Amino acid sequence: MTLRDSHNRIIRDLRISLTDRCNFRCFYCLPSGEPPLARKETILTFEEIEYISEIFVGLGIEKIRLTGGEPMLRRNIEDLIEKIARLKNSGEKAAADDGAVQNPQTEPGDPRLLDLALTTNGFALPERAKNLKKAGLDRVTISLDSLKQENFERITGVDKLEDVLAAIEAAQIAGLSPVKINAVIVRNRNDDELAEFARFAREKDLKMRFIEFMPLDAGHGWSREMIVSGREMFEKINKIYPLVLKEKSRGNETAWKYNFADGAPGEIGIIAPVTEMFCGACSRIRLTADGQIRTCLFSTAEHNLRDVVRGGASRGEIIEYIKSVAAQKEARHTINDVKFSPASRSMSFIGG
Ligand code: SAM
Ligand code: SF4
Repeated sequence: MTLRDSHNRIIRDLRISLTDRCNFRCFYCLPSGEPPLARKETILTFEEIEYISEIFVGLGIEKIRLTGGEPMLRRNIEDLIEKIARLKNSGEKAAADDGAVQNPQTEPGDPRLLDLALTTNGFALPERAKNLKKAGLDRVTISLDSLKQENFERITGVDKLEDVLAAIEAAQIAGLSPVKINAVIVRNRNDDELAEFARFAREKDLKMRFIEFMPLDAGHGWSREMIVSGREMFEKINKIYPLVLKEKSRGNETAWKYNFADGAPGEIGIIAPVTEMFCGACSRIRLTADGQIRTCLFSTAEHNLRDVVRGGASRGEIIEYIKSVAAQKEARHTINDVKFSPASRSMSFIGG
């Protein structure tokens, strides 16, 4: 069983936002003066998230990423991870429970959820990385936008560079690997640190992901002049540390990935959604903390799965609802169109 949209793309990757709250104030995401938070009773419970995840896995979702807001602010997240991690061994059960969605290609015992990941600002990892791994988390992506203490604070609004560096180490020690590092590169904020980040990746054997700034910030401060293109990022790094492309095709991946030409450890990935759109190969669907399905980061409409689930729909009805929503996935974003309609919610709410 697969989830397919009307552009014939198969959806295999579900991103679940666990909360719209955050303890950082990254200027490109959730600057001070943030929008109001979702009410507690509207946020999905762990039981609801587990149930929905199981259904999605039965529909062919192979990767689940937990995000936010800051997902580590959700109390006892380890319990949720433990529940979702069980789907790595019981995907075929999810399909078999509903007679209508048996997958003829699924052999009994085949794992269906292949990958359970978490994106975090890292604040809680030094103490909790080991427990996350024990609960069944496969890997983490940690956000790190500057290697300089003052600049880190200017970008994130908090003085936590040391904690994030400790988080990266703790994640590596715990085996939450490959550990990926996300850095949103913004003109005159941190574009002078690209080579330094590359050096960091080499020294620590990390997979760096440099991301173009997208118009998803709650403060609506985004402008085209602030974008550092993927091409420019590549050139700046390649000049100091020559790079070789890993694979000619990206498949469903968002990043162009490079090794260091001299064989040093680490990897560079460049994600350029604005200047090199990759919508044609998109395999993602998103669930917000308050249970709305979003078929694109830039969707202007949402689909209220929470009310369908809470309204007592049967498993079969929920499956039909999800299939009908997935079919409506947008062909592409319109950031570069003259008539760009901004997304209906900002990144911290949608889940990056
Ligand atoms: N709080 C967690 C964190 O920071 O890793 C998870 C949520 S955060 C929204 C997920 C990712 O989205 C982060 O790596 C962040 O850098 C990225 N992000 C946030 N706003 C963005 C924007 N306007 N453009 C590009 N990436 C953005
Ligand atoms: Fe918080 Fe992550 Fe957004 Fe920064 S990027 S404000 S850490 S949700």
